[in-house]
Amino acid sequence: MFTEEQNELVESAAEMLYGLIHVRYILTSKGMSAMLEKYKSYDFGRCPRVYCCGQPCLPVGQSDIPRSSTVKIYCPKCEDIYYPRSKYQGNIDGAYFGTTFPNLFLMTYGHLKPQKPTQIHVPTVFGFKIHKP
Ligand SMILES: [Zn+2]
Repeated sequence: MFTEEQNELVESAAEMLYGLIHVRYILTSKGMSAMLEKYKSYDFGRCPRVYCCGQPCLPVGQSDIPRSSTVKIYCPKCEDIYYPRSKYQGNIDGAYFGTTFPNLFLMTYGHLKPQKPTQIHVPTVFGFKIHKP
């Protein structure tokens, strides 16, 4: 029988192994099309930026090295990254999605790449634009 400590080690090693298989899998054509279905059903959430008008996002890692940072969401419209809204998603290691995925996904499915947003937020004071020095 294993001790509790050994069980935890096995569990975290298994989780990392699964994560490293996952990051490779989502870059294959089969993995890409599975991710396409998830993207179409807004599984990764929408961009929180108002002028992105609810653009669906894709998961991305800030690093390919495990345990460096948690997964973020990438908006193909404003091309920026955000914290995922769901706490569950926020705990997933970013390396299990990697830095390549959303970019390769949008190269593969070029027709899904949205136009850049045309509207930006203009700060005003009593209705007047603020002059920048
Ligand atoms: Zn956006």
